[in-house]
Amino acid sequence: MEFPAEPFKIKVVEPLKMSTRKERAELISSVGFNVFNLPADSILIDLLTDSGTSAMSDSQWAGLAQGDESYAGSRNYYNFEKTVREIFGYRYIIPTHQGRMAENLLFSVILKEGDLIPNNTHFDTTRANVEHKGGRAVDFVIEEGLNPSLEHPFKGNMDTQKLEAFIEEQGPERIPLAMLTITNNSAGGQPVSMENIRETRSICQRYGIPLFFDACRFAENCFFIKERESGYADKSVVEIARELFSYGDGCTMSAKKDGLVNIGGFLGFNSDEWAQKATNLLILIEGFPTYGGLAGRDLEAMSIGFREVLNEDYLRFRISQIRYLGDELDQAGIPIVKPTGGHAVYINAKEFLPHIPQHPFPGQALVVARYREAGIRAVEIGSLMFAHRDPETGEMAYPELELVRLAVPRRVYTSMHMKYVAESMAAICENRDKIKGFRIVQESPYLRHFTAQLEEIV
Ligand SMILES: *Cc1c(COP(=O)(O)O)cnc(C)c1O
Repeated sequence: MEFPAEPFKIKVVEPLKMSTRKERAELISSVGFNVFNLPADSILIDLLTDSGTSAMSDSQWAGLAQGDESYAGSRNYYNFEKTVREIFGYRYIIPTHQGRMAENLLFSVILKEGDLIPNNTHFDTTRANVEHKGGRAVDFVIEEGLNPSLEHPFKGNMDTQKLEAFIEEQGPERIPLAMLTITNNSAGGQPVSMENIRETRSICQRYGIPLFFDACRFAENCFFIKERESGYADKSVVEIARELFSYGDGCTMSAKKDGLVNIGGFLGFNSDEWAQKATNLLILIEGFPTYGGLAGRDLEAMSIGFREVLNEDYLRFRISQIRYLGDELDQAGIPIVKPTGGHAVYINAKEFLPHIPQHPFPGQALVVARYREAGIRAVEIGSLMFAHRDPETGEMAYPELELVRLAVPRRVYTSMHMKYVAESMAAICENRDKIKGFRIVQESPYLRHFTAQLEEIV
């Protein structure tokens, strides 16, 4: 296994606070065993999310100093628009403060009550925005994408047969657009192949349905295409990105991922008709079209971030660092979702803690153990997040998988940090049969995992 050396060096240091096991045990108990309630400075390595947690480069920090905070016509907007047009190619570029605002604008403009939006897999804010506007979000990821131990190079692909059958059955007039999420976040950060994008494109074209990308991790997806898809090894990632976006009619983007910034996003597309409507709404709920919900300096950092994220030394390191963490865990006998995706490693908690059934939350039990033993924050993606009482039968419905996600922020942690994450996990492994489950003592009716209070079953 090749050790992934960082293609950057450290210029500014942010100290991390070390803590003892006893301090962490007290703290996690005092916040109801919910890692969302932990103060971030009590954490040694924070793998809660890769969103908005990137480290900016010296160029980006220099870009901030060149912020032009004019209300209208800021030079940073023109730089941003030029960069985004060069990579993504769309005519209209509407800056927003993050991805979900791009989704809000898009679906406010194009959706009617009862409309349907197919996607490989909707991210949760995308689904929520579709449903909030009266639409229905439908997922058609390939079967292989649902099997955690099956190796497949493009597990994020759309099942194009299912998509076409769905369009035939429902009628294209009820489908204002189709989406492809690259990489497929909710299905493990797995990539979509160019071939699958072309097929999806041709089906959409046949029925007159526009195709949009949820492009949050487009650079990681393009790097996987270069690595894995025949015909792309000698193309640059920029060329691959341009080809990819040429098959779509627009995109929503959270620059908190592959924009390498802490806040920002945009909505891009070609339709003249939608541009007018989206711009009017933007002015009402977000801001003037040359700043969206952002400061001029943020636009500058974003436009530099989009160029940096396509650097192939950076991308090779990024993908190898995730793979390295996955391989280290795998070699220590810890069951992970395979192959590793672009931004996170997922541990299969059901298999790792077979003595804990789903109702006492095996994923959360592992999340708490990760923090208590090693000061690492991860997130449960299992029953705490998804189990719910079926409104018709009154019985509890449990998700298929109990996962713990280790999402890796961009350019923040070194590969030695990843080694620490893997080795401390191996130590937990030895005493895994002593790990206990949890019960909920307090919960809210929606998105309960953010605020639930738990207690350990002793
Ligand atoms: C993060 C994310 C979003 C939403 O973006 P925010 O910037 O968090 O609002 C949408 N889709 C995907 C795939 C994401 O990962």
